[in-house]
Amino acid sequence: MVNLSIDMNDYTKPSSLFGQRFFISIIVAILVIATLPFRDVNAQATTYPEYVVVPGDTLSWIALRFDSTLDELLAVNGLDENSMLRPGDRLKIPSLAGMQGILTTEYVQLGSSLTSLSRRSQAEPADLIRANNLTSPSELFIGREIVLTQIENSPIMTTMNSLRQGQSFLEASILAGQNTWSLAKTNRLENPLLGLPMDTYYMPSEVESPSNLAIPGVKEIVVDNLPLIQGDTFLIEVTSEEPVTVRASLAGVEPVFIEMDEGLQMGYGGINALTEVGVYPLTMEFTNSEGDTYRFDQYVMISSGNYVSDKPLQVDPASVGTEAEQAENVKFKEIVAPVTPVQQWSGLWYSPAQDADCIISSFGSRRTYNDDPRLYYHTGLDLGYCKGVDVYAPAGGTVVGIFPDQVVRGNAIVIDHGLGVYTIYMHLASILIEEGAKVEPGQLIGIIGTTGRSTGPHLHFEVDILGTPVNPLTWLRRAFP
Ligand SMILES: [Zn+2]
Repeated sequence: MVNLSIDMNDYTKPSSLFGQRFFISIIVAILVIATLPFRDVNAQATTYPEYVVVPGDTLSWIALRFDSTLDELLAVNGLDENSMLRPGDRLKIPSLAGMQGILTTEYVQLGSSLTSLSRRSQAEPADLIRANNLTSPSELFIGREIVLTQIENSPIMTTMNSLRQGQSFLEASILAGQNTWSLAKTNRLENPLLGLPMDTYYMPSEVESPSNLAIPGVKEIVVDNLPLIQGDTFLIEVTSEEPVTVRASLAGVEPVFIEMDEGLQMGYGGINALTEVGVYPLTMEFTNSEGDTYRFDQYVMISSGNYVSDKPLQVDPASVGTEAEQAENVKFKEIVAPVTPVQQWSGLWYSPAQDADCIISSFGSRRTYNDDPRLYYHTGLDLGYCKGVDVYAPAGGTVVGIFPDQVVRGNAIVIDHGLGVYTIYMHLASILIEEGAKVEPGQLIGIIGTTGRSTGPHLHFEVDILGTPVNPLTWLRRAFP
């Protein structure tokens, strides 16, 4: 190949020495080929997809991420081990030779399948299988991080309104203002007649739509706070063009969907901290005003919270495995059960203690008490009194419970923040708020103490969602809408 192109260049130049130069060219070209390592000749024809460096990336991490070796990665990009990486740099990925485009990563969302991902990214399904080492489509569970290739300057894709019962792909594409045949091609349909209801189709658009699920009347479904982790919060947001009743179920949790703005419903849930790591089906059901029900299942990965085991704790025997403990647990379960429909918080929460970093015990750690064989886990975040003893409301809410002198929780306060989200403050020395009071973020509500089942002064701060304790740090680190 190389010698031919050298020839052709010379051939176009008028020269009386043409015959001689042609001969020398052949000789030179043969010598060049003979001395070149085989790989370099090949490299001229090989394409590589490119990865765009993001802050925090290292060369060895990128090599590992894409199943390559550091040496291969350095060689193909003309780098050495001391090369600096800057965000925005582009690196060729040797393990994916033959593919093209920019590699992007995202978490698999509800409704994503090999077909829908390939339609949206316009990448070949075979390339997606290769880039992600997929052996079965069922491996595309929600929350898995996947690699997509995006051809540069290719149009942004948005989800088409799904086909209604009896509606053809032709009709739907005309309604969307699209050319039926090019839209069929974009969606890898050999024939527009093969369009199906409940299948997700994409069309070029100004704005990208994250929806992958074709449910008539439903525009967008987002599972938030991926990847899902044992003991953590999740949120499902559904945007619809018409009234729909939404039901969902995941690992024994059934979020309650509350209408926020017109067309937007939110359902919060909490994964139990003792849920085994693994994949679980997320089942969603949508019923429209005509009574048509659409059901959808997809696996979701629930990852480890990496919770540690505390040393066995010695506490007052009256607070472990007794009827008093049982009765108290039932009472607190009941008070956090109602899902009130008004969201009373907004944005990121404040720390309930004066020093947010004064953490003396994290959420989720596995515990046993007084050599009792039962496994407990730490249902909240323990904050010490490094800077002060004041306890504040972290977010807006309504005080729904004041409980003095509890066997386990000591002096405790319960605040309802709406949508099934509650906070509980335990072991207080004193309570400075009354039942029924509306609290503002940052309002003083109590004083840190060591009442109840406690081994020293601290605030046990707990966040319960639909009755399940979740990691409070999540709420202090990121805003839920
Ligand atoms: Zn605690």
